Amino acid sequence: MTDPFKSASAYDYPLLIKHLLHTPLANYPDREIVYSNQGRYGYRMFGERIARLANVLKELGVGPGDTVAVMDWDSNRYLECFFAVPMIGAVLHTVNVRLAPEQILYTINHAEDDVLLVHSDFSTIVDSIADRFERPVKLVEIADRGQSSSNLDSAGEFERLMDGVGAVYDFPDFDEHTRATTFYTTGTTGEPKGVYYSHRQLVLHTLGVVAGMAPAVDQGWFRRDDVYMPITPMFHVHGWGVPYVATLMGVKQVYPGRYVPHKLLELIDREKVTFSHCVPTILHMLLNEPLAKEIDLSKWRVIIGGAALPRGLAAAALDRGIDVFSAYGMSETCPFICSAQLEAEVMARDRDEQLDYRCKTGRAAPLVQMRIVDGSMNDVPHDGKTTGEVVVRTPWLTQGYLKDPEKSDELWRGGYLHTGDIGNMDGDGYLKITDRVKDVIKSGGEWISSLMLEDIVSSHQAVGEVAAIGFPDEKWGERPMLIIVLTEDAGKGVDAESIRQHVSGFVESGAVSKWAIPERIVFVDSIAKTSVGKIDKKLLRQRFVRTN
Ligand code: AMP
Repeated sequence: MTDPFKSASAYDYPLLIKHLLHTPLANYPDREIVYSNQGRYGYRMFGERIARLANVLKELGVGPGDTVAVMDWDSNRYLECFFAVPMIGAVLHTVNVRLAPEQILYTINHAEDDVLLVHSDFSTIVDSIADRFERPVKLVEIADRGQSSSNLDSAGEFERLMDGVGAVYDFPDFDEHTRATTFYTTGTTGEPKGVYYSHRQLVLHTLGVVAGMAPAVDQGWFRRDDVYMPITPMFHVHGWGVPYVATLMGVKQVYPGRYVPHKLLELIDREKVTFSHCVPTILHMLLNEPLAKEIDLSKWRVIIGGAALPRGLAAAALDRGIDVFSAYGMSETCPFICSAQLEAEVMARDRDEQLDYRCKTGRAAPLVQMRIVDGSMNDVPHDGKTTGEVVVRTPWLTQGYLKDPEKSDELWRGGYLHTGDIGNMDGDGYLKITDRVKDVIKSGGEWISSLMLEDIVSSHQAVGEVAAIGFPDEKWGERPMLIIVLTEDAGKGVDAESIRQHVSGFVESGAVSKWAIPERIVFVDSIAKTSVGKIDKKLLRQRFVRTN
């Protein structure tokens, strides 16, 4: 319906990424953006560099609808790409640099990249696949400190190209539904699947995160006086979308480059980082670094996502004064779906109860409609026990998989995005993810939550890391198996039997059924991780289930 009162000159403000920049540029022009040990500048310079990058891309022939891919460590340059590429109407493809070269090649061809900005550390990979690019891809080399070190046949080095263009660019308006970003998620089978997000979705997601974090009471906030450092790679769901949030808020930002544990800790210490997010394995790694014992971590707030926060890890973090809590989402959800900030009355309770809440998956974020449903899309009771699949609606969900209508329809069946996660919800809206549909252990008609089992085992003082998987059993269908890495200071007396006894304690208290007591337990030096640092259950199943 047309609006009869609307002025012909009224500005119908489209939700474009460029609009996220107005407030930080106006209000915090000198606030710093830091890149590892390599340099720092203020938001004013950041704005200028976004314009320069837009000019560089234009000179390379990039126009609306073209795709610009990036292979870089977490850096100020990556942040500039987060803005400049979509702001000229092009699509930013954040390449998962931890995939195998063949998979990287697949994603570059599938996304139809036109330009690839590539850090010299990845030049060997690009060299080995470039002859199989299915279309002409212009390369731009990114060399730290501007010193080119590879033989890539590139259009130039990033900083040299930036120096050669102007610092002004008139970013146009266009439809807010224009695709802004794309990246690939690797499932348990098949080729990587492309998800994609529009300007409108990214702007609304940014506002959704701000609105989700702002009402936090005594912990778990993200505010203007914070110092932000991501420890989730920027290629993975736009660093969980938080770089956009940090920029909108104009906070000091620190980009750590390649993740080297003691360097991350040095940066936290030196730059006074107060807010980060990562998967559990990264936090585990950082806490086990000798430097972690020497520096003050008591001002650090850390969101754990991408996998369940094990209780043992949460306890270890709390002991160091870290404000740790969970959030939940996935590649297909931009990713923010829910977070587990504590209510004031929970903060007033004892540490154990606080831990319960910190390790829950969380409560729905603003604008998120989250349901737990059975196989016929009926809601299961919100009793904190009955499990079903988590399905969601929010304005920022991928509308499908790139060029894959069949999988897109499967993802969206019944008009809700199907997460493939199983969970329960209590009467106060707290979700607890109990498993991936594919990881749940089905034993004698009972569903054993692999995450619950891991949580219990992680609370054993000698357990550093643990994965629970099912192995086929003629009688019961499946039985649970544990793969455990012991802590360095674990005593000699720790064996499979002591782990079983520990789990039995939880059977007595009713936390798990007796079927959860694991039959097989193996102790290993390390547990395989996926390209985004999560426990790789697919690989563990291949390794342990086939050979046992
Ligand atoms: P990805 O698309 O790689 O980000 O993986 C998303 C998946 O990670 C989700 O579907 C969940 O299975 C898992 N996940 C993310 N956050 C959590 C969480 N807080 N607790 C349990 N599982 C999680």
